[in-house]
Amino acid sequence: MVKNIAILGSTGSIGTQALEVVEKLNDKFKVTALSAGNNIKLLSEQINKHKPKYVCTAAKETAAEIEKAFPQIKVFYGDEGLKEISTLNEIELVLVAVSGKTGLKPTISAIKNKKDIALANKETLVMAGDIVMKLAKENDAKILPVDSEHSAIFQCISNRKEVKHLIITASGGPFRNSDTKTMENANLDEALAHPRWKMGKKITVDSATLMNKGLEVIEAHHLFGIDYNDIKVVIHPQSYIHSAVEYKDGSIIAQIGIPSMHIPIQYALTYPERTEGIETESFDFIKAAKFEFYEPDLLKFPSLSLAIEMGKKGGTYPVCMNAANEEAVFAFLNKKIKFSDIYKITKTMTDNYNSIQNPTIDMILTEDEKIRVQTKELIKNMRIL
Ligand code: NDP
Ligand code: MG
Repeated sequence: MVKNIAILGSTGSIGTQALEVVEKLNDKFKVTALSAGNNIKLLSEQINKHKPKYVCTAAKETAAEIEKAFPQIKVFYGDEGLKEISTLNEIELVLVAVSGKTGLKPTISAIKNKKDIALANKETLVMAGDIVMKLAKENDAKILPVDSEHSAIFQCISNRKEVKHLIITASGGPFRNSDTKTMENANLDEALAHPRWKMGKKITVDSATLMNKGLEVIEAHHLFGIDYNDIKVVIHPQSYIHSAVEYKDGSIIAQIGIPSMHIPIQYALTYPERTEGIETESFDFIKAAKFEFYEPDLLKFPSLSLAIEMGKKGGTYPVCMNAANEEAVFAFLNKKIKFSDIYKITKTMTDNYNSIQNPTIDMILTEDEKIRVQTKELIKNMRIL
């Protein structure tokens, strides 16, 4: 049977790769709805190819352009539009591949409408993991992880009660072998030169600070219900082992393969089935030859420990950290601050923050907005100093 899917963030790194997966599996999936931000050119190409019935753009103006060019399509825009296309009757599965906080609201709406979610957007779980996982359970909606480490764990985990540790691997990013001085003054190109993965800019910078791994620890805690103290991070530069589960009897089950996002995207879409897809070459153990592992250097990458600490503290601390980090990364991408300022800003914001315990979604969104305003202010004042 053909499954109707909605892809939120279709013009991004995950979105475009998801469309490649779906194109290959066109007897199993129909792209019924697409959502993009501002890249109307690429969105138009995608519409021509995949012929969705519904489309959403970030702004009213771009929605009007699409409406004019494709009068047969129902076009929505903005946050409301994302909600509309995530809750359409005919949609069975929603791939949430927008970046940043934009993912939270449509994910919640989709879950409330009993849709299964292929979740790439990790910020959703960082901001509101407790609420999202509880809602998913109540509505019998599956949360299928797309993030490669979480897809790996999802494939290796059976009975949560038998788990001793989750082992999340990290490539170490572009600064794995750099000294602190080099990192402090790293420019944009250096921070964006990820050795293993080609991703959107925000997550690539997070991978350079290792904040991404911290966000992933929080994501894993919520997805799999494992205590923070039982989640380990291991640097594995080759990125062949995508993560692993250690059981109480000493067995470790790891998921291995070439570093390709097509595989976790496809598994989230076809779950529980596995079929032939884009990646047809077998993993060559002999050619791969070397599997190396190191402990993360927490002095060089303090963002990793900060994120885990905020996850453990809970309440809206992760919301504060996520918002401050995202604003700091945007400022770095706009060449307003130095690479090392990203951590300093995030740390200052979390140090001065009073968390709310057991927040509602509205409280989370209010806190998020408040922190973003304060972080921008902090960045402005830093530039004056
Ligand atoms: P990109 O920056 O490449 O893509 C983001 C997508 O979201 C684009 O389609 C963009 O539209 C859209 N978008 C951004 N802001 C808005 C908005 N306000 N309203 C509507 N649409 C918006 O990001 P990635 O694909 O790299 O990452 C997406 C998510 O997946 C992130 O949360 C990331 O952490 C996660 N992830 C990504 C991985 C990867 O390999 N890339 C791996 C694991 C997780 P447009 O470009 O048209 O403006
Ligand atoms: Mg990942």
